[in-house]
Amino acid sequence: MSSTSELCQRCGLCCDGTLFTRTPLQAEEVEALRALSPRPVDEACGHGLAQPCAALEGTRCTIYAGRPAACRRYACLLHGALAEGEVGLDEALAVVDEARARAAAGGEGLAAFLEHHFGRRAPR
Ligand code: SF4
Ligand code: SF4
Repeated sequence: MSSTSELCQRCGLCCDGTLFTRTPLQAEEVEALRALSPRPVDEACGHGLAQPCAALEGTRCTIYAGRPAACRRYACLLHGALAEGEVGLDEALAVVDEARARAAAGGEGLAAFLEHHFGRRAPR
């Protein structure tokens, strides 16, 4: 597994509602996602899937090979920094842990932290 795949499988912040409230779906993906998801995708409405995503188990996407196009396209700043060798995997995972700790502690300074490390407003 590549280091970026390992990071994502151990992160999940773009799937659990921390970075986004919904996952955009193409119209033809709605039924496919229902079929692929191990749980009913009852939050699927229109062309979006509410987060936390029904396909997420812990920090891992259970439909990784068949995930929607928006999920395939998306890569946060931290992912990019790891891919470019600007940070190592351990350092990147420490950033994820810090984001999770800040969220659990009530979210003080969380938005700025997410913006800085993940680029919260990056299009998906
Ligand atoms: S793309 Fe970024 S936020 Fe999403 S799982 Fe990977 S490291 Fe986490
Ligand atoms: S389908 Fe997988 S990659 Fe996409 S939001 Fe859900 S858990 Fe994350």
